[in-house]
Parts: sequence; C-alpha cells; structure tokens
Amino acid sequence: MTDETPICSAKGCRAAAVWVLAWNNPKIHTPERRKTWLACEEHREHLAQFLGVRGFLKDVVLLSQWQASEGA
Ligand SMILES: [Zn+2]
Repeated sequence: MTDETPICSAKGCRAAAVWVLAWNNPKIHTPERRKTWLACEEHREHLAQFLGVRGFLKDVVLLSQWQASEGA
C-alpha cells in the first residue's frame, strides 16, 4: 500500500509534489543512475535551477507521467 501523497523535496515545504526532477551527479553516480527530487508547482523552478547550475539536472517530468513510466 503506497497511497501516501508524495511531498515536495524543498526544505520546509509540505505541499503535494507535482513534478519529478531526475538528476545525476557524475562525480558519485554512474551515468545511467537517476536520483529524484519531488517538487510542488512553486518549487519546481527553484530546485531545477539548483541542479541545473551544477550540471546535474537530467529531466523534469510530471509526477503522474513519472509514475506511469516507472510502473511500465
Ligand atoms: Zn514545495
């Protein structure tokens, strides 16, 4: 049973996540590895920017799409 609502990864935020930010740190992860952060509508840009400036960000997808592709 995994019916709990995914929550935004931003510090202190308790909003329901809408987006999945897939990222990879080439220094510690193999290239195909994907770490994920969850983001609400408000924090998507902030978190994407944080990862983007470090060159870690790989993909930003809707949580519903991410879950659909994970389940496939
Ligand atoms: Zn948030």
